[in-house]
Amino acid sequence: SGQPLKFKPLALPPKLTNGDFNEFIQEVIELVGTENVEVITSKDQIEDGSYMNPRHTHDPHHIMEQDYFLASAIVAPRNVADVQAIVRLANKISFPLWPISIGRNYGYGGAAPRVSGSIVMDMGKNLNRVLDVNEEGAYCLVEPGVTFHNLYDYLVANNLWDKLWMDVPDLGGGSVLGNAVERGVGYTPYGDHWMMHCGMEVVLPNGELIRTGMGALPDPERPETMGLRPEYQPWNKTAHLFPYGFGPYIDGLFSQSNMGIVTKLGMWLMPNPGGYQSYLITLPKEEDLKQAVDIIRPLRLNMALQNVPTIRHILLDAAVLGDKASYSSKTEPLSDEDLDRIAKQLNLGRWNFYGALYGPDRIRNALWETVKEAFLVIPGVKFYFPEDTAENSILRVRHKTMQGIPTYDELKWIDWVPNGAHLFFSPIAKVAGEDAMLQYGITKQRCQEAGLDFIGTFTVGMREMHHIVCIVFNKKDLQQKKKVQWLIRTLIDDCAANGWGEYRTHLAVMDQIMGTYNWNNSSFLKFNEVIKNAIDPNGIIAPGKSGVWPTKYSQVGWKL
Ligand code: ADP
Repeated sequence: SGQPLKFKPLALPPKLTNGDFNEFIQEVIELVGTENVEVITSKDQIEDGSYMNPRHTHDPHHIMEQDYFLASAIVAPRNVADVQAIVRLANKISFPLWPISIGRNYGYGGAAPRVSGSIVMDMGKNLNRVLDVNEEGAYCLVEPGVTFHNLYDYLVANNLWDKLWMDVPDLGGGSVLGNAVERGVGYTPYGDHWMMHCGMEVVLPNGELIRTGMGALPDPERPETMGLRPEYQPWNKTAHLFPYGFGPYIDGLFSQSNMGIVTKLGMWLMPNPGGYQSYLITLPKEEDLKQAVDIIRPLRLNMALQNVPTIRHILLDAAVLGDKASYSSKTEPLSDEDLDRIAKQLNLGRWNFYGALYGPDRIRNALWETVKEAFLVIPGVKFYFPEDTAENSILRVRHKTMQGIPTYDELKWIDWVPNGAHLFFSPIAKVAGEDAMLQYGITKQRCQEAGLDFIGTFTVGMREMHHIVCIVFNKKDLQQKKKVQWLIRTLIDDCAANGWGEYRTHLAVMDQIMGTYNWNNSSFLKFNEVIKNAIDPNGIIAPGKSGVWPTKYSQVGWKL
């Protein structure tokens, strides 16, 4: 097919030459077509883009240099067979591939690969169909490129939304599949996305295709399905109803991992509960966090709190409504007095608890009485329904989020400072007042030492809280970026010293965090490395993801 193309990508993986790259990418182009390959050969291609227009070259919220984590090329397979073929080609020369679904992944590294020069595999561009919504079983089957917003539109367009609800995170543009494999969370009763997944299809590092759980049991052959390639064969009828199947339960190997490329995912959907009411409870004082968390624990455990509610710091809400300059002329962190003033101005508390009630009137009323009675012991608490709040209130946004309707309003808090970018620090905490106060205190103190405002939220799971500290910084301020690196590295160590670990993280600190999960001579990491090297001997799939390195990389000192 014509003249050999000569590309000079800005970044190449270790030990691979330009010749290796050109030979490889030429074969890939012949496979998927030029329209599905972009080679990164010029600085002009490295733009931060925007949430609505994401780029896949690098991390738009760079905490290091903009091009520190850089792709050599972005390749979009057209189908499962392409994925398998690319994986087999990559094995021949040990070329690293970094799979993404949509590639937004805000606050955790965007679409950027951990090893610069990797090929970013854009799974979402062409594989973007809702393959099935099953009403009776209340589940869906999606490809990597289906965003929360796409799924919502699909349910509405097919008159299914009055029967089945879905769950969304704060922003609607992420991949349903990508978010679930990263173990992301949303805010309905189905907020734990990983818990709600059922049945995966994965291309393994050797190119083989696997279905997990009941999906490993074939659907009986029928004349119309005979001879179909495996990826087009119907799933077993219970594949999206029972997640575990038989034998070792291996789904976890494909989450936050580098053991395979996920091509399809089943997700449970929530039956429309037949009634819904969101609410806000404002907590006037900073130290009310302690009492509130102890009130929340039993309510959440016994499911009087039905969804994943959040306890949001005043500045998170304030930042959605305006930038820092709109509240204060200070550049240094705001004081307690400032926060009290802002809370008063916005009719909010120092902490704001957002929850929802699901079900018919009688059920909601009984639960609301229970919740109200429990919170009333905190002096000064106030209770609101959306209609009691301003037109632009956060409760009106959360009202949508907690019933699974995608929104984009929460993007605004990133603009708290000029040239705003953000990084998430996400430790897990017990649902216990003392623990929450201690963790909040430590993180707030360190944010202030770094010259930044504390902005954060506690999202309440069944027995723990994901404490999401939103580190907002000016990405054009190099000094501030250095401080941000110091801040997250310090927080990881501080938290580990208190027995707290993070549930997910940015590329730059995956090694450090894996290093804190080191019980009994790091037996957990060692086990992961054994599996990694066994199933991916050439180390081609996402080397370094979650701090798990194939042998060839760890030997040359890749850790950050
Ligand atoms: P978002 O949904 O926020 O756009 P991404 O699509 O960027 O998120 O996915 C986030 C991360 O999840 C990726 O960096 C990658 O590590 C992992 N991931 C996403 N899709 C896949 C996939 N199809 N197979 C394996 N890992 C994936």
